[in-house]
This record gives sequence, C-alpha cells and structure tokens, in this order.
Amino acid sequence: MKKTLFHNEETVQRKATQVLKELKAQNVSCQKEYEQLLNNYNKLLRQTRLLVTLSDKQQNRLTDLAEWLQNKAISAVYASEKKLAQFLEAVSVGVFVVDAKGKPYYANKKAQEILGKNIVQSSDEEPEVYQTYLAGTAQLYPKERHPIVQALKGKTSSVDDMEIFQKERVIPIEIWGTPIFDEEDNIAYAITAFQDITEHKRAEAEREQFTKALQESEERFRVIAETTPVPLMIIRPTDGSILYANLQTTLLFGFSISQIMDSRITDFYLNATVHEKLLEVFNQKGCVRNYELKMKKIDNTPLCATLFVQPIIFKHEKVLLIAIYDLTERKQAEADKLMFAQEREAKNVALQMKGEIEKKNEQLQQEIKDRQRAEAALEKANKELERMAIIDELTQIANRRRLNQCLTIECKRMAREQKPLSFIFCDIDYFKHYNDTYGHQAGDACLQQIALVLNNAARRVSDLVARYGGEEFAVILPNTEAEGAFNIATIIQKNLEELNIVHAKSEVNKFVTLSIGISCTIPLHTISPEILIKTADDALYEAKAQGRNRIVLKML
Ligand code: GH3
Ligand code: MG
Ligand code: MG
Repeated sequence: MKKTLFHNEETVQRKATQVLKELKAQNVSCQKEYEQLLNNYNKLLRQTRLLVTLSDKQQNRLTDLAEWLQNKAISAVYASEKKLAQFLEAVSVGVFVVDAKGKPYYANKKAQEILGKNIVQSSDEEPEVYQTYLAGTAQLYPKERHPIVQALKGKTSSVDDMEIFQKERVIPIEIWGTPIFDEEDNIAYAITAFQDITEHKRAEAEREQFTKALQESEERFRVIAETTPVPLMIIRPTDGSILYANLQTTLLFGFSISQIMDSRITDFYLNATVHEKLLEVFNQKGCVRNYELKMKKIDNTPLCATLFVQPIIFKHEKVLLIAIYDLTERKQAEADKLMFAQEREAKNVALQMKGEIEKKNEQLQQEIKDRQRAEAALEKANKELERMAIIDELTQIANRRRLNQCLTIECKRMAREQKPLSFIFCDIDYFKHYNDTYGHQAGDACLQQIALVLNNAARRVSDLVARYGGEEFAVILPNTEAEGAFNIATIIQKNLEELNIVHAKSEVNKFVTLSIGISCTIPLHTISPEILIKTADDALYEAKAQGRNRIVLKML
C-alpha cells in the first residue's frame, strides 16, 4: 500500500471496525492481534478526551500528546495494514479493491489467480473483472447487479451466479462487495471478496441431480402405485403411521385416502399384535414375502390377505412399502371347492351306500323268497310225507297206519256215543294166480280198481277205506249196524263183479272176486281195535274156507 487511506482517528476507527467486520466475516485468524491494537487505540482516545477540559498549556501538551498518540496510532494502523496486506496475500479468498471510478486498485494473489494476473496494471481498458458471465450462459453478467458496481453505489451485496471464463476453464464464483468511505463519507473504494465455488457448485449440481432423480423416482413410483391393481401402503416401521396409500387401498378397505392417512397400519389388522410378528420376520429376512394374516374393512368384515413388505427410501426416509393381496375370494373358492368335494364325496358315499343297501336288500329279498320257497317246499314235502305216512302209494287210499289210527278213534267215539261200529275185511281170491297169469303190473292195476270200488261203496264222510296190506283191504264203518255193513259188502262184491276183471286162473269165478269178513259191535265200553280186526279176519277166514267169493259176518 503506497497511499495513505486514513487521515483522522474516527475515520481510522470506522474503517478499522469495518475491516475487522470483514475479517470476522471471513474468519481471518490474525484478527485477535488487530483487535488488541484497536482496543489500545480506543483506550488512548478515551484518555485524550478526558484531558480536553484542562488548561491551554495542558491542552497544548495534550494536543501534542494527542498528535503523538495519533501518529503512534496511525503508525500502528500502518503496521496493522502491512500485516493485513500480508494476510490478504495469504488468504484463499480473492480480495479485489477498485477506486471510486471503478478502476482496479488492489487485488490479492488469489484474486489475481482467479481473475487474471494483469488486472491491476490494466489502465485505460475496461477492467477484466467486469468481463464476468451469468452462470450457465455466455452472456456478460449484468453490470448493475455486479457487487462491485453495487459497492460503488454504496451498497453491500453478494451474488453466486457469476462465472469467469479462463482459457479453458469456466470458474463459478461467489462474490461479496462492500463500499469503503473516505473521511467525507464519499465512496473511496469498493472492496470485493470472492471465491471459486466450482466444488460447491458441483456438489450443488449433484445434490440437485440427486433431488431431481429422487423426485422423478417418486413420481414414477406414484404413477406405478396409482395404476397398479395391487393395494399399496408406505408405512413408517417405528410407529406404523401411514405415509402413503394408493387408490386401491380405498377400494379394498372402504376408507377414504384421508381416513387411511390418518390411521396406522395396525388399525387394519384384525389382531393388532400381528404387526410385531410381521416386523420380527422383516428384521430377520430384510423383507417379507407372502405373510398371510387377517385384516378388516371399514365395516369390520374380516379380510384374508397376504402381505409383501419391502424397505424403500421415501422422502429421504427409510420406510416400508407394503403390498396387500386380497385372498378372501381365493380362500372362499378353496373353501367352496373343498365343500363341493366333500359334498360330492358324501354323495358318492351315499350313492355307494344306497347301492350297497339296495344290493343287500335285493339279497335279503332273494333270501326271503328262497326261504319262503324252501319253506313252501318243506311244507309241501312235509304234507307229502304226512300224506305218504297215511296214504297207500299204489291205490291212493288210506294205508294200514291210518286205518289203525282211525279205528282207535272210532272205537272210542262209538263207545262214547253208544253207536254201532262195523269193520269189513276183504281179500282178493287167488290173486297170486292173477299176478302169475297177468303180471305184476296188471295185478297193481287190479288192486287200484278194487280200491275205487271200495271207495264208491263206503260214501259217508266218517267211512274210511284202507289198504290193509298186499291184496287185502278194510273198511271202517262208524255208526253202522251189521246189516248196513253187510249191504255195503254186498255192493262192493256187486260193483266188482260189474267190472268183469277177467281172472282165468281163479278157481271160483271167471272174474276177480273178493272174500269178505265183517265184524260188528255196539261197544258198551271201550273195546280194542285189534279185537274188531281179529273178528273180521276170522270171518274172512271162514269165507275163504267156505269156498271164497262170499261174505261172513261175525258179531262181537
Ligand atoms: P286165496 O284165495 O287163498 O286168498 O289165494 P291167494 O292167491 O289170493 O292168496 P295168497 O296169500 O297165496 O297170495 C296173495 C297174493 O297177492 C301174493 C301176491 O302175489 C299178491 N299180492 C300181494 N300184494 C300185491 C301187490 O301189491 N301187487 C300185486 N300185483 N300182487 C300182490
Ligand atoms: Mg290174502
Ligand atoms: Mg287172497
């Protein structure tokens, strides 16, 4: 610095304070020293003022002293200015001073480096300092906004949208301008400080780019989130508060967006404690896939859902994106399918059972029929057996067993009723010869004819015609007198005679004849059938003995 800038203490003080302020603003480290100097100077000034009221002599001395002090102070300021100049050369901030006319007056090393080395030397030409450009353009920076110009108008200002074009480099700068006044308060200088903000701009550009990218990504997210059919929510994991919900969530839950945004995720769970479990899974795996749980709608109807949870950054915050899939319909369909399958199974079982029952029923019916048939057959067989037990097979009249039964009954009955009982015993004459002559089959036929003859003769219901054995027949005639019995025996012989069954080898006739013995009794008391038979047999024997083909009656 070659020129004196400051002429009295007030100006010195003002300028010093201003410089101090500037230095403070720029965090200059040697300001303490300068501050000390200024304090000393102020102290001296105060002492000087105290002495103003003293005598002329004293005052003169004091004036001398003051002058001395002033000189001292000024030299101190010079010293400090020198120090300041040294400091200004060292700082990384560009400091540039122009005079009132705007001509460069001082530029520190950094300023020269940034603005160009010949700045101060240039005399008549437009100073290069004004050849600055509006950031991001090739246009010269508007002069009226230039902090130097502002400072020359007495205004302090700063801008950060200025660029300096160096050979192959564009340097963005931030620049502050402050006016410096002389003792008459006229603007003497304009001081500017500026710094290369390339790094700062780059960082800012990066930040802007990042912010833009983030905004774009958020925008993209919103577009996707609003068009996807999947209900989406963004929640804060710590308190479950909902930061975002797409339109689909309103359709799913029935709440409006604002209602959803005022809620917490736990308000949508059927059981709020499930949130802790969900976070547990999330903390273990870093995300959640297919977490099935029960949620609820506005009307509290339950909702089967599965959640997908993914951590994302949303508005600079680590949050959770939750995708909700409604499983209600699928679950219902599964339940329906299961029910349908169960119903079908039940129907099949029922059908199978019905089939089996019908089959069993048929079998049973068949068994019943078979059994009925068997029973009928058995009954028939039994009847046949019964019949066979009492019927003679060849002649189909009662056999000897039946005869004995009947005779026993009739003996008792007739004794009880005191009615006569007759018994006829017949024997074919020379029947052996008949067989021998005509064969056994013809003999059988003869036996059958004679049975018919007997049956036709004894017509009462209580009468019984029986084959006694071989060619011997018997007739029980209850309630029949001897005379009646004899008549029937006669009818028998007569009817047989009318049949004219030829018997060539008979010694008594040309036809088959019968010898008949009759026994008859009115039983006063119980008589034995054997006696009746024996008596009739005796009578028959007599008939045979008397020449055959005759009737012998014997009374008991
Ligand atoms: P009589 O006049 O003394 O009675 O002589 P008979 O030949 O009739 O008597 P005998 O007792 O000697 O013979 C009875 C015969 O009757 C013998 C047998 O051949 C015959 N006879 C007995 N039962 C049957 C039968 O069921 N069918 C046939 N065809 N003949 C029988
Ligand atoms: Mg005989
Ligand atoms: Mg005989």
